[in-house]
Amino acid sequence: MGTNYKPETLCVQAGYKPGKGEPRVLPIYQSTTFKYDNSDQMGRLFDLEEAGYFYTRLQNPTNDAVAAKITALEGGIAGMLTSSGQAANYYAVFNICEAGDHFVCSSALYGGTFNLFGTTMKKQGISCTFIDPDASTEEIEAAFRPNTKALFAETISNPSLVVLDIERFAKIAHSHGVPLIVDNTFPTPINCRPFEWGADIVTHSTTKYMDGHAMSVGGAIIDSGNFDWEAQKEKFPGLTLPDESYHGIVYTEKFGKLAYIQKATAQLMRDLGSIQSPQNAFLLNVGLETLHLRMPRHCGNAAKVAEYLQQHEKVAWVNFAGLKDNKYYLLAQKYMPNGTCGVISFGLKGGRDVSVGFMDRLKLAAIVTHVADARTCVLHPASHTHRQMTDDQLAAAGVAADLIRFSVGIENAEDIIADLGQALAAI
Ligand SMILES: *Cc1c(COP(=O)(O)O)cnc(C)c1O
Repeated sequence: MGTNYKPETLCVQAGYKPGKGEPRVLPIYQSTTFKYDNSDQMGRLFDLEEAGYFYTRLQNPTNDAVAAKITALEGGIAGMLTSSGQAANYYAVFNICEAGDHFVCSSALYGGTFNLFGTTMKKQGISCTFIDPDASTEEIEAAFRPNTKALFAETISNPSLVVLDIERFAKIAHSHGVPLIVDNTFPTPINCRPFEWGADIVTHSTTKYMDGHAMSVGGAIIDSGNFDWEAQKEKFPGLTLPDESYHGIVYTEKFGKLAYIQKATAQLMRDLGSIQSPQNAFLLNVGLETLHLRMPRHCGNAAKVAEYLQQHEKVAWVNFAGLKDNKYYLLAQKYMPNGTCGVISFGLKGGRDVSVGFMDRLKLAAIVTHVADARTCVLHPASHTHRQMTDDQLAAAGVAADLIRFSVGIENAEDIIADLGQALAAI
């Protein structure tokens, strides 16, 4: 697919180009394995001497087509799907960090990622220092150590909605010889392409806007191909020194700019196996075909809802980067001039208990764990997704105890506002 097509065209067309007499729609390759004519052909695939499919745990044509579409949308060089956003973030870091290594991460973070990085990966010997994304450059740099291998942050954090200063973070990462990994789940490449601002690797929970219909859990990792692993040879031995589990292949020598994704596929997917099912990849692809239509609607509806809430006497505060008085308004204008996402957060006067009572009175907006799909939904992180966090950890993650996360869907904005109005009137 030509890289000069615009995002709208890529959403619909990228990744799959049928030949003569082939299916118009991307087929679901519902097959665990792939057939060869002789033993030598298969052997060459196992040696990574030839590209080709042999087992769906490593690669599947349906998944590859969808990964290629997301790669085109992000303007990257290579990409892969994973079974979930959690798996994507895990692989993205674990691909370049091993026991004894360290990485730096913004504390404004999705709760699941916070647990993964702060607890589970720690048990594997990989430590993470969380930093305030709004701290000074000097303070953030102080967290770097000789064994630091990456800087990680979310473009718009879930649920605290902090907007990342991508350029500043990229400069900090690069001045320490490490890549910037950005979780771009909330804006999607329709609203922000982090590679254009210096990020090296992008991850997604495709479960959210990309799927868009709350049908399938999934993730993706996309590489810009811009980070020079060879220039930091000692820092990244997994990429620049022989892989004994693959007959001594050196990924950077053999695959050049594709080294990072090749290693994550050939080694991590082979050994850890968090593959996305081809059926889910098919559904994700259907979602991607309308991503460019849905995102502006989500943003437009969210702006109307945020303005409504802001002027309501029972509302204590509203956080939405599209509001002019928002702390992140200018950063959002710079990185996401067409809108950020459909998620807003707010608190009610009277605090936590009032917030919970309000949520129970909503009729159109449903209480679900999910966020960022076509249907308006609502969640109270302190009692749901983030309930395992202490108050201090909640504060560091930018999640107030009274924070209501409101994910504005693509229904009619007036209906959403009417639902909020009746619930606010009842408390
Ligand atoms: C939901 C989410 C994840 C985790 O994704 P799953 O698909 O639920 O595993 C990671 N990062 C962000 C920003 C998310 O919103």
